[in-house]
Amino acid sequence: MKILGSYLCGAWSTGGATAGTLVNPATEEVLAEVRGAGSLGPAVAHARDRGGPALRGLTYAARGQVLAAMAKVIHGAREELIALAVANGGNTRGDAKFDIDGAAGTLAHYAELGARLGERRLLADGEPIQVGRTARMAGQHVWAPRPGVAVFVNAFNFPAWGIAEKAACALLAGMPVIAKPASATALVAHRLAELWVEAGCLPEGALQLLCGPAGDLLDHLRGPDVLSFTGSSDTARVLRGHPVVVAESVRVNVEADSLNAAVLGPDVELSSETGQLFLVDVVRDMTQKTGQKCTAIRRVMVPAARADEVCDAIRDRLAAIAVGDPAREDVRMGPVATAAQRRDVLAGIARLAEATASVHGGLGEVTPVGVPAGKGFFVGPVLRRTDDAAGCDALHDREVFGPVSTIAAYGGGAAEAAALVARGAGGLVASAYSDDRAWVTGFVAEAAGWNGRLYLGSQKMAAQSPGPGTALPHLLHGGPGRAGGGEELGGVRGVERYLQRCALEGDASVLKALVE
Ligand code: NAP
Repeated sequence: MKILGSYLCGAWSTGGATAGTLVNPATEEVLAEVRGAGSLGPAVAHARDRGGPALRGLTYAARGQVLAAMAKVIHGAREELIALAVANGGNTRGDAKFDIDGAAGTLAHYAELGARLGERRLLADGEPIQVGRTARMAGQHVWAPRPGVAVFVNAFNFPAWGIAEKAACALLAGMPVIAKPASATALVAHRLAELWVEAGCLPEGALQLLCGPAGDLLDHLRGPDVLSFTGSSDTARVLRGHPVVVAESVRVNVEADSLNAAVLGPDVELSSETGQLFLVDVVRDMTQKTGQKCTAIRRVMVPAARADEVCDAIRDRLAAIAVGDPAREDVRMGPVATAAQRRDVLAGIARLAEATASVHGGLGEVTPVGVPAGKGFFVGPVLRRTDDAAGCDALHDREVFGPVSTIAAYGGGAAEAAALVARGAGGLVASAYSDDRAWVTGFVAEAAGWNGRLYLGSQKMAAQSPGPGTALPHLLHGGPGRAGGGEELGGVRGVERYLQRCALEGDASVLKALVE
């Protein structure tokens, strides 16, 4: 049995008692196990004493070079990492590339940002401010690295991108990292860490990996530390309420659940470029990574007059998706990641079914191709429909983290669409498809405050659109309310989560020299 060890205090250790097993979700073959790691106080101290000073001693440009080396390592092991994601994540090759290439691309993006920030260790935040009688007495806000450790607790769905997108920002800021991937799919993150350690791309203590339970990790956190969490809102609540996190005012950044919506504007014919973009985006988001993307479209608002046509078009596309062993080239959608995830998704579909009609896929039953009978955590793509978008609570109050979406008919007004989006109580991303600029303006005005990102699909951008489900390093990832209230990525904004803003007051020429 392969044991996924943890890389702590500069060495790999396999830990104590078995704490969980990793399986291939298509075949249920056991792949590895994780174990408890014992007290994590020494690892936190190692990050503080070794990793922090080493990183803070580097300029932004030099930290950027560290990230570039990490990205290069991923490129060099791409095929191996893809194979692991297929085996442990239930990913098709395309799904796996989305995760692995996304990880390398995000690190490369932040490597370039580091190069642009150059030979600095302090970043200016805004312009100098005259605070005295003359310009001699000035104020200047700056961003300084937080002298603590960045702890990541990650979700199961993006084992590579999840660690890379957080690490890119923290390391560039100058904070050492302790990353805990979700146990069920930790194979990819574990191999990534092995590769980075073997390549020697990071200073000692800058990156540690904890495979298995979090144990007493949070007990050791202090004020300058950052806890960055991606996962369910239930776990987020537990971590936010941890007594040490509360008592020490540890900065917490949460990416949690989100009932992302796609809205079709009343002006859009389905046969138009904008209409086709809408269909492609909805079907991609339902099936890519078997719907296990935090940004996937769960609610599809469609003008009532077009609801039948949209249901027919999406049903036809879903019917053509082969579900089964993701290692096969003809398969377009694999299983969900774990047995627990499957139970959760099926329960979510059953709840939706009490309030909605079936358009495709019933309650998720499916006969997967290429897997032993009765094996695997498969759920078929499920499309539901309601003609009462406002009255259907089940549509708006539970994220079903699988290949499931619901079409909801609405009247077509921009304000009505935005109000329905807001029923999700805060989202990572909402998308609106329209070529009517007045409608789009009305929608954005009402919807922007409820979402971390708005994706505006239209005829002019259709040919180059990555779709709303792709979190880009340049743009904010995170959202208010149900989505956790966190912010990640967004270029330098993501780095700022790991920096401390400090107001300097003094002689204007001294302040100027400090941020040059
Ligand atoms: P989860 O059950 O909340 O687990 C997330 C992480 O938290 C895992 O690493 C887990 O470790 C850890 N964890 C669980 N209980 C803990 C505790 N008491 N103390 C410390 N760590 C603890 O979520 P998941 O099942 O992996 O992910 C599914 C959910 O995440 C979905 O609901 C989805 O909405 C959300 N999600 C959000 C985003 C986003 O960016 N907003 C992205 C992906 C997923 P173990 O694995 O070892 O238990």
